[in-house]
Amino acid sequence: MEDKQQVSGTNSKKRSRWFWPMGLLATGMAGAAVVLRGCWHSKMSWPVRSQGCSYQVCTGCGIKRLFDEDAFRGYGPYSYDLERLVAHDHAKRMKNKSQDPSTEHRSAS
Ligand SMILES: [Zn+2]
Repeated sequence: MEDKQQVSGTNSKKRSRWFWPMGLLATGMAGAAVVLRGCWHSKMSWPVRSQGCSYQVCTGCGIKRLFDEDAFRGYGPYSYDLERLVAHDHAKRMKNKSQDPSTEHRSAS
């Protein structure tokens, strides 16, 4: 005995209305994206220490910004890439004071 499954090609189901809720959902997602892009970074987290420097993270969108512990305020540009911020800050410090004993030996990646 062999089981042969035959798919009847003519399914007369009306599913045109089905996709309307999905369309509305997509529209809502787009709206949320606009809100995220329009974030003013007004709610920053407490500074986090990492790689010898401090930075804050926006609780709204997750963007990062370096934090000056002496002045107790954020400074520099915003970026989602912490490595870039740290590199930017290092380059700035190297310019300010040329005589900086670099005790840490880290290979440029
Ligand atoms: Zn933000």
